[in-house]
Amino acid sequence: MYYTKNTTVFLDGKWIKADQANTSLYDQTLHYGNGVFEGIRSYKSENGTYIFKAEEHFERLLQSARKMHIPVKYTVRELVKISYELLEKNNLTDAYIRPLISLTPNMTLTSNSKPKIFMCAWKWEKYLGVNPLNIMTSSYRRPHPKSCHVEAKTVGHYTNSILATTEAKSKGFDEALLLDVNDKVAEGPGANFFFEKNKTLYTCPLGNILPGITRATVFEMAKELEIEVIEKHFTIEEAKKADSAFFTGTAAEIAQINSLDKNTYPLQWNESLGYELSRLYQQKVINQDYYHFELV
Ligand code: PMP
Repeated sequence: MYYTKNTTVFLDGKWIKADQANTSLYDQTLHYGNGVFEGIRSYKSENGTYIFKAEEHFERLLQSARKMHIPVKYTVRELVKISYELLEKNNLTDAYIRPLISLTPNMTLTSNSKPKIFMCAWKWEKYLGVNPLNIMTSSYRRPHPKSCHVEAKTVGHYTNSILATTEAKSKGFDEALLLDVNDKVAEGPGANFFFEKNKTLYTCPLGNILPGITRATVFEMAKELEIEVIEKHFTIEEAKKADSAFFTGTAAEIAQINSLDKNTYPLQWNESLGYELSRLYQQKVINQDYYHFELV
């Protein structure tokens, strides 16, 4: 359950109870999928509750909105402030924050309707490890970057993710891995993909994927740990011959992949670069250095 009768949400400048928040059945977002959103996490630490990479997430939200021609009157700073207030009002520490910018009634194909901003949050316990994932190559491709802005977190894009995950689960796998339109590996339905080969990390370049904030954090951490990361296009065959692999995402953090198309990765997870990075990530998410927003 995402809310109870006590949950407070932010809707268009007002704090209201979640069970009183509503929207119209004529909204453009509902009919045509034009809306943008984010998935953000907050973590409890000794020094308080921190929203990890809050500014980066809201910058991406505003960037996604711009790509979709959705005008937003809030600044990154205001949105971060609202997020902290949202956590406070709901007594949340370890939580998932979901901002959604949706479009109001409009049955035309122009994006000129008035956007609505909705922000909610729910408790999300810190992961203490999850089962390694068995994934499969999806029969679905990531959308062609010339058919939409794949780098934007647009509501409608997620029908592609839903198809891929549903297919994978129906075949007994935990998750899917999607190729791009050039037959190269792109990303998971809700996470970016990395593999390790001979102590080097590989991931695909931007262009066909969502530019993940966790992906960027992996680049930062790899620099600190002096791990080489190479961005290049690669085939599914190369990904299968890797020593180890993992997904990255705000929700999944750094998630071990056990097998791809039933090929089990040979390296023990606790000897892999993914493991080393995941341990550092656990420290980063509660590290004050990453909290550079001052509430005033
Ligand atoms: N790709 C897709 C398609 C996603 O939905 C997500 C989750 N937002 C990611 C990658 C990972 O992005 P991030 O690390 O910013 O959560």
